[in-house]
Amino acid sequence: MIEPGQTIGILGGGQLARMLCLAAAELGMRTVVLDPDKDAPAAHVASRHICAGFTDANAIAELCALAQVVTHEWENVPLDGVTKIAARIPVLPSPRALETKQDRLKEKQFLTSLKIEVAAFADISSHADIAAAERAIGYPAVLKTRREGYDGKGQAKVSSRSELEAAFKRFARPCCLETFVKFDGEASIIAARGSDGSFAAYDFTENSHTSEHILKTSRVPARWNGDLAARAQLIVENIAEALGYVGVMGVEFFVVGNELIVNEIAPRVHNSGHWTIDAADTSQFTQHIRAICGWPLGSAKRHSDAVMTNLIGDDVNEWRAFLKDPNAHLHLYGKRETRAGRKMGHVTHTFPLGSLAR
Ligand code: AMP
Repeated sequence: MIEPGQTIGILGGGQLARMLCLAAAELGMRTVVLDPDKDAPAAHVASRHICAGFTDANAIAELCALAQVVTHEWENVPLDGVTKIAARIPVLPSPRALETKQDRLKEKQFLTSLKIEVAAFADISSHADIAAAERAIGYPAVLKTRREGYDGKGQAKVSSRSELEAAFKRFARPCCLETFVKFDGEASIIAARGSDGSFAAYDFTENSHTSEHILKTSRVPARWNGDLAARAQLIVENIAEALGYVGVMGVEFFVVGNELIVNEIAPRVHNSGHWTIDAADTSQFTQHIRAICGWPLGSAKRHSDAVMTNLIGDDVNEWRAFLKDPNAHLHLYGKRETRAGRKMGHVTHTFPLGSLAR
């Protein structure tokens, strides 16, 4: 078990790491962040920033000398570096969760092996696979790169063979073709599994995205609750159990009628869980720190209704207005440069429990 005063290593220094560092500090922990960007959002709040690449041998040695446990904020952190760290100190969640996640095909095969429903999928590793994948999936479909896609990057909706071939040529790497799901809405579950196997899930969260597939709002309660929410929590518990997972994870769902289709697993704290800072007994960040330190999980109970809105690009210019609203809780990530599509911060509006129920 990790003791207060010890040091948590974090791979990646973006806003998720920044909020992990803040939560860790509240619990008396020190943090060391590894990120190649000298101005990384977490670098400003971590106890220490190692400014280097994720596979840099000297940086890894330094991280291992300083930290007693290592976690990550980014699922695409090179497995090579993570495995080297894991040979020396505990890495939580384990590299196995990362390995499953880093390849969309492996992720879907893993979910299917647990009898969890996913969109029908087919591998397109080379041009020769296109005809069979087209026969299996049909149109419309979504072509996604097997590796390194996020927030809609590395994916294209395709409605014909020529569009599919053009997208595959453009991506120029192994891909996965998925049925385009005509969903009623998108939702997620954020949950934690402790080192003792305990499990705590937050409420079912309803998500909406921008036209560029970037998360725009997360709302609790979701418009679907009851049975659907209970089933979603059970699915996440099964995933966490099967991976022997320790820490917080997010699982994204498509809701189609009374059906739940898993879109993807995020083996880390998740953007759609930011509302937990202001509307739950324990934030997802504090929960993750507790889990990886081997401490008891906190209560995941929600004490308020909430709508979290990402401040993307110029949205952040409205920060003054949010400060005037007593229901608005503003979180800015300290990024110097505002760019279109860049997550600059978020604001969570809280309301008395039950007031947003539909
Ligand atoms: P992803 O990068 O897989 O999380 O996808 C980003 C967003 O693209 C999702 O949140 C959906 O809005 C949309 N999307 C991804 N896959 C599909 C699909 N198979 N069918 C319909 N929409 C999708």
